[in-house]
Amino acid sequence: MNLLEKFQRNYESIRVEGLESKYLPYLKLKNYLDENFSEKKRIGKSFLGNDIYVLKIGSGKTKILAWSQMHGNETTGTKAMLDVFEFLKLQESECEKILESTSFYFIPMLNPDGSTMYSRRNATGIDLNRDFLKESSPEIKVLKSFVQEIKPDFLFNLHDQRTIFNVGETDKPATLSFLAPSPNIERSETEPRIKAMSVIDNMSKGLERLIPGNIARFTDEFYPTSTGDNFMNAGFPIILFEAGHYPNDYERTKVRKFHALAILFALEKIAQNEEAEVGDYHEIPVNNKKFLDIVLRNVLVRSNEAESLVDIGIYFEEKLDVENQEIIFCARIEEIGDLSSYFGHLDIDKKGKNYLGRSSMFPEIGEKADFSVGNIHFEKGKFKGR
Ligand SMILES: [Zn+2]
Repeated sequence: MNLLEKFQRNYESIRVEGLESKYLPYLKLKNYLDENFSEKKRIGKSFLGNDIYVLKIGSGKTKILAWSQMHGNETTGTKAMLDVFEFLKLQESECEKILESTSFYFIPMLNPDGSTMYSRRNATGIDLNRDFLKESSPEIKVLKSFVQEIKPDFLFNLHDQRTIFNVGETDKPATLSFLAPSPNIERSETEPRIKAMSVIDNMSKGLERLIPGNIARFTDEFYPTSTGDNFMNAGFPIILFEAGHYPNDYERTKVRKFHALAILFALEKIAQNEEAEVGDYHEIPVNNKKFLDIVLRNVLVRSNEAESLVDIGIYFEEKLDVENQEIIFCARIEEIGDLSSYFGHLDIDKKGKNYLGRSSMFPEIGEKADFSVGNIHFEKGKFKGR
């Protein structure tokens, strides 16, 4: 049995317990690390003084550095990486090749303040992924100086993307998307970039066997202030990972496993130490934003004067329920009209059934969904199901 099969088969026993919620605040992570990673190293502090840690496994020549929760509300990568670390720790003999040839570093939460607030940004409202040049945040300085200190051969930048992304022109959600960012506006395929493309090619092919049609890549316009583009420009092969939606997996439990497998496919490729090739990187379909969480088609909206058949698109906004320390999904009306070019994760033709609003007669863009159409009910943003 190879490594990846072993991981898949034993995943339920490998998976780190207690990290099921989409909400992963600093203290929860810290407690876990205190119990399981006494050898963790502190490499700096956040704006509010929370520690930023790095974990390490393996002792090889090739150095890989991954970080997650640079955007505090994007937690799938953290969980997937912790699963990978548990697996590598447990299966040391089978993972020998990887652990002998690579030193794998992981910063499990670059933005602890934002993570506790369940915010994309840091405590002062800075998007760390756009702070590379200005260095207004202490957190980006911590990352940059650690990269300068160890000079990794590969960087993994782990994120989550919203449920709106589909693959190419298809109605398949983009469950994992990748990018080998451009080092300049010419989008040059420099040596570091080809190294990143080569690893992505391997991940994409491996994942296509498990979740065919669910893998995409981001377009590669150059973003002058972003982390990925600047590290690539500085000569570090960097890979952007974006964990996305999988059918009926709003908690991203399945996606977490696919994400962990993606990391293992990457490690496998890097450990082979072959000459890098672009491979079929350009054949991976590009991400599109064609999904809404719910699309109700042909809903009848009427006044005393007229009636209209409209499609209503709903987006689930995530909010932190501070009291219960969990994430709630709030349904908002995102789009109204002809949504024939959109897909819904739940997509229903209401065939002329009446819109029955609770707080208003007609649907309005931006408002919390508070209506019924046939057997579909929303109450103040809460989806009551069918
Ligand atoms: Zn992000």
